[in-house]
Amino acid sequence: MFATLSDRLSATFKNLRGKGRLSEADIDATAREIRIALLEADVALPVVKQFVGAVKERARGEEVSGALNPAQQIVKIVNEELVTILGGETRRLRYAKNGPTVIMLAGLQGAGKTTLAAKLALWLKDQGKTPLLVACDLQRPNAVNQLQVNGERVGVPVYAPEPGNGVGNPVAVAQASIEEAKRRLHDVVIVDTAGRLGVDAELMQQAADIRDAVRPDEVLFVVDAMIGQDAVTTAQAFLDGVGYDGVVLTKLDGDARGGAALSIASITGKPVMFASNGEKLTDFDLFHPDRMASRILD
Ligand code: GDP
Repeated sequence: MFATLSDRLSATFKNLRGKGRLSEADIDATAREIRIALLEADVALPVVKQFVGAVKERARGEEVSGALNPAQQIVKIVNEELVTILGGETRRLRYAKNGPTVIMLAGLQGAGKTTLAAKLALWLKDQGKTPLLVACDLQRPNAVNQLQVNGERVGVPVYAPEPGNGVGNPVAVAQASIEEAKRRLHDVVIVDTAGRLGVDAELMQQAADIRDAVRPDEVLFVVDAMIGQDAVTTAQAFLDGVGYDGVVLTKLDGDARGGAALSIASITGKPVMFASNGEKLTDFDLFHPDRMASRILD
């Protein structure tokens, strides 16, 4: 991931090596190169503009520090600005003070939600939590079964509708699952909701109804990073239609350019909280903006 961006940025920095002082022309040329690098990485235009503007301004105003030469100074600025557009600090899950913490997942079909639900459950289990998975994706024929299979693989129980118990009604299933979690002393409930192939009003309404019924502590928007700028557009639509607290990027392993990862936090104002980067159920972790920035500049 980020291979082209990394290469382009390091070539840009190479041009500055050995320079004692950066002229206005050097700064302009560097800013132009960074702009091209970000656009080629499929970063959203407003984010590119903000980024390049900030780098230019800081490069002009930066005090020449004794410890860093001008090229190092630029690398430092770019690193800090990358951390900023990636969302700044690592945003960790907020747990409920009383009762089970409810985490609701929303996103389009194929985003990797069901897989992610199991990955998150395993991750929470490793943190000493006792999660319950809830199958509220009653739209896709195989979704409940898929969650059950994955739940079994990670050793986490799955609450699913039974005949006569809320079949076809995801809101009722979600509500009942909270009671079940309380009864069985689960401390986290992960509610997997239905997705569609595209954004539509009915999908948004269903997700909003589940949200209103279970009042989640965290709503996570799950999105496939491989769809690039479409991820950003979809993120905006879900923000308007359902609202959420954080973003989970999936399939980062297949995303060569990194445009969604680099744009989504700035455009939506919501932090990327988790990254999913493979088909194995352990390919999952918190998203750390600083580590991601270091990887780009490695
Ligand atoms: P849902 O429709 O949103 O529930 O999506 P699924 O969980 O069924 O995932 C859709 C496909 O993406 C499946 O084939 C998953 O194995 C695959 N998938 C999910 N997450 C990742 C990931 O992080 N990396 C890769 N390479 N594939 C993934």
